[in-house]
Amino acid sequence: MSSVTIIGGGTSGLFSAYYLQKEGYKVTVVERGNFADGCSFGNAGMIVPSHIVPLAQPGMIAKGLQWMLKSTSPFYVKPRLSWDLMRWGMLFWKYSTPAHVERSIPVLRDISLLSKQLFQEMASTGEIDFGWHEHGLLMLYKNADTEHEMAEEAHLANRAGIVAEILNPQEVQALEPNVKVSVRGAVYYPGDAQIIPHLLIKNLLKLLKNKGVQVFENEEIIDFEKKGETITAVRTPNGQHPVQQLVIAAGAWSPILTEKLGISLPLQGGKGYSFMVENVKNNIHVPAIMLEARATATPMGGDLRFAGTLEVAGTDLRVNMNRVKGIVQGINNYYPEIEVNLPQKEKVWSGLRPCSPDGLPYIGQVKGFENVTLATGHGMMGVSLGPATGKLVSEIVIGKTTSMDIASFNPQRF
Ligand SMILES: Cc1cc2nc3c(=O)[nH]c(=O)nc-3n(C[C@H](O)[C@H](O)[C@H](O)COP(=O)(O)OP(=O)(O)OC[C@H]3O[C@@H](n4cnc5c(N)ncnc54)[C@H](O)[C@@H]3O)c2cc1C
Repeated sequence: MSSVTIIGGGTSGLFSAYYLQKEGYKVTVVERGNFADGCSFGNAGMIVPSHIVPLAQPGMIAKGLQWMLKSTSPFYVKPRLSWDLMRWGMLFWKYSTPAHVERSIPVLRDISLLSKQLFQEMASTGEIDFGWHEHGLLMLYKNADTEHEMAEEAHLANRAGIVAEILNPQEVQALEPNVKVSVRGAVYYPGDAQIIPHLLIKNLLKLLKNKGVQVFENEEIIDFEKKGETITAVRTPNGQHPVQQLVIAAGAWSPILTEKLGISLPLQGGKGYSFMVENVKNNIHVPAIMLEARATATPMGGDLRFAGTLEVAGTDLRVNMNRVKGIVQGINNYYPEIEVNLPQKEKVWSGLRPCSPDGLPYIGQVKGFENVTLATGHGMMGVSLGPATGKLVSEIVIGKTTSMDIASFNPQRF
């Protein structure tokens, strides 16, 4: 029986395990934490075919610089003397062009739609519960500049075949009959969906274990054993696991591992926070992005999760309460009747989005090695793209034709 070892137990690693196990592989997942540490656990859970414009887009640099001046603002790059950060920044700048946006739209659309279809298939089998709902997504705005920007994005989306509807305040309110929404308008993406991230990780892990996937937790991979162009084993502080095929899905920590293979991977952790408001009396129905506040709201059963901020700050997971305050302050401008207080620091979750500089993931075989596949770099969309990533990884490992063209995801494209 062919075997595969996967480093990392986030959505990229676990969905790779899911599809490889289905193909008859003997699968081992090695996770250095307890599966609640990665970025896949406390995120906003939005499944977003609407997000066809990559993070590297015209205007982002100027906006970022403006935001960086305020301690409560949603975007921050911690100044550091780091060659990796400088290289990443230069590439981000280079790819913030209309031509890159134009090129990326069909690619992001195709991988998002593939992923959504795979989520639907999983939900329809009833194999596991991950809180699947298809209520769409509201992009809420308060001012004319954002309205203009969003109308342009809606136009791009409609042109690419992703339905986007521009709504006035009354139409927004009609979608949320139980909660007052105070906005100038919104773009509604009816094709978007949502999951409950912690439920997904917990139940997917249980399913994988039941299917015979071997799972090691609290075990960190610290190095590799090589023979020519083949990785023969992964090393932990206590020993090693033999390897036939290897998948690196270590999120924001992936560059630490690829460096040991002599590969410098441009990737930065984009720190974000979330917290839950429990037992909301009149909860929202449709997940929403509060655009000027750069914060999100996702209903999860009777609870409501708020998330936001993007701090490029290495792999530092510490919580900065000023930024959390920024999220809290923004919320009531959009939902004036929902009572939200500043949460205690211990109740705030932080996660690192694995951000590539051009906003496209890294999915593909690593050149120079016969048996190494990389799956990371999904930035703000790793959950959304999880099933498609897993499916593509399985096809790469097996050597099958992939479900879509993956040239744009080449890990060594820079
Ligand atoms: C606030 C916030 C909100 C978000 N909202 C959304 C959303 O609504 N929709 C969406 O699609 N995405 C969202 N994201 C992004 C999404 O969470 C990430 O893109 C995704 O979780 C990345 O998954 P991953 O498996 O690649 O990485 P991770 O989930 O980080 O998993 C990597 C795992 O590898 C492990 N690891 C690292 N190094 C080693 C090692 N040496 N040995 C063993 N294990 C190792 C880590 O412990 C970790 O568990 C959000 C992110 C944040 C921060």
